[in-house]
Amino acid sequence: MIPSILPTYNRAPLSFVKGEGSWLIEADGRRFLDLGAGIGVNALGHAHPALIEALTTQAQALWHTSNLYTIPAQQALADMLVAETFADTVFFTNSGTEACELAVKMARRHFFDAGAPQRTQIITFEGSFHGRSAAGIAAAGSEKMTHGFGPLLPGFEQVPWADLDAVEAAITDQTAAVLVEPIQGEGGIRPLPDADLSALRALCDTHGILLILDEVQCGMGRTGRLFAHEWAGIAPDIMMVAKGIGGGFPLGAVLATETAGRCMIAGTHGSTYGGNPLACAVGCAVMKEVATPEFLQSVRSRAGLFRQRLEALVAGHPDIFEEVRGNGLMLGLKCKVVNMDVLNAAYAQNLCTVPAADNVLRLLPPLNITDADIAEALNRLDAAATSLSSSG
Ligand SMILES: *Cc1c(COP(=O)(O)O)cnc(C)c1O
Repeated sequence: MIPSILPTYNRAPLSFVKGEGSWLIEADGRRFLDLGAGIGVNALGHAHPALIEALTTQAQALWHTSNLYTIPAQQALADMLVAETFADTVFFTNSGTEACELAVKMARRHFFDAGAPQRTQIITFEGSFHGRSAAGIAAAGSEKMTHGFGPLLPGFEQVPWADLDAVEAAITDQTAAVLVEPIQGEGGIRPLPDADLSALRALCDTHGILLILDEVQCGMGRTGRLFAHEWAGIAPDIMMVAKGIGGGFPLGAVLATETAGRCMIAGTHGSTYGGNPLACAVGCAVMKEVATPEFLQSVRSRAGLFRQRLEALVAGHPDIFEEVRGNGLMLGLKCKVVNMDVLNAAYAQNLCTVPAADNVLRLLPPLNITDADIAEALNRLDAAATSLSSSG
């Protein structure tokens, strides 16, 4: 008999009932150290006082009005994002997938309005992840995500990861954009080198096409800059954001330059919930915490400590781990044993991590994880690895 929840997930037998900072408390009282943060969503950990305050204050005033009216918190959040980024304009969604949908529509409409309606094709990369909608799975193109769901939305072509020659070869007079995650998340914490991101930007400029960045996972301070592309000193035309921006409340956004965004006039796109008062009140609180030089500096120093300890862990368990990957607090352990075995061994140490493709274990802790919790996380990872060595 089919379960009452559509069984699209293999869930761990854990049900958390409370969160405190980097800790999750199980129904039976056990405390788990959370290096998953809701898949990179709880950027400020669990139960952050400023987020609780923002949400509860808004909840007592007004929950929802729709985009038929001006939403003050939405305006405030858009203004903050425009002030802090390359973007001139923002559309709010409820998720990363919906941000992908708009990014694709915007790129196509941009060229339609520019008198080049044949430019509909978007070049993407093998191993990428852009969400589970029809556009999202067609963009990623993997067998795993698309199997049985055809016919796929046309207009996407995947090239091998980080292969700029393949990108150049794929560009035709039908190409509208290149879409890329600066660091592949689901694909196994694979960073695109800064030089490659700059080269991609130059390639797009040379051919007059748009660069769309998917910073749903790597953005919002995760790498120690507000957005990961800042490390390469370039800017996209369109950017997808979600996960961390809501700190746990469902919120996403598409950020765009005026040139890319001006095709989207009244009636071309919409969302009933997108940019709702509750979501934007929380989004504003997240931005106020994260988008400061002090906070981003603290992420970089925590990340340095974390990375150093992980390198030592890998050196100490050469039978279990191959290497540390990633930037900032978007980290991955490439495993030599099956990554799910390490994940389960970590659960046995009351430690939560997230699997990824390419046999990688993802570590996406809250951006404000304390040094003591980093040390504790490493103790538990070490114990998990030791348990696997001695049982193997
Ligand atoms: C999670 C993710 C998405 C999809 O976001 P949802 O909020 O799950 O719809 C898209 N792109 C990337 C890079 C992601 O990590």
